[in-house]
Amino acid sequence: MIEDVREAKQRDIREALRQLDAITKMTGLPIYPEPKTGNLLWADVRELDLRYQIPVKKISKFFEGLRNGKILATKCGKCGSVYFPPQNDCPKCKVTDLEWMEIVGEGEIVTYTVISVKPPSFAHYPDYVVGIAKFKETNVTAWIDGPREKIKVGGKVRLEIVKREPEGYLTYKLVPV
Ligand SMILES: [Zn+2]
Repeated sequence: MIEDVREAKQRDIREALRQLDAITKMTGLPIYPEPKTGNLLWADVRELDLRYQIPVKKISKFFEGLRNGKILATKCGKCGSVYFPPQNDCPKCKVTDLEWMEIVGEGEIVTYTVISVKPPSFAHYPDYVVGIAKFKETNVTAWIDGPREKIKVGGKVRLEIVKREPEGYLTYKLVPV
């Protein structure tokens, strides 16, 4: 899982920062030898404020859908593959401008995990659950929001449009039925 990779990375970074702190305390400078070459490196540590800009023009219908209470996927007319989150092209057939379809009804939780060690851009959220649910049309990966005892493999869920706080943007989540 991507989350596992992120967690391992976070641990590495924390460990490196600890070592750097120790070096700075000992020598008065954040300078350390690069492990492979022995070249001296100055390590500067500062908080990064990341902002993502992702081109969404080709899937703007998806965001219109959220505003109108619909959760939309795309479907390739040639091979029948369904894409969610939607994408404009089918990489299998090299077909472009796929058809739009709504994901409706109930799905079933295939797997889920509780995220307590969060990547930096999610660090301000309380612990959350991410899972995959199988719907008739396609699998959906999303946050699962509901009482923990109702979140279980095989449990039924539906997709809901919600406002993600504190950012206040529309997104979707899985909710146990
Ligand atoms: Zn296709």
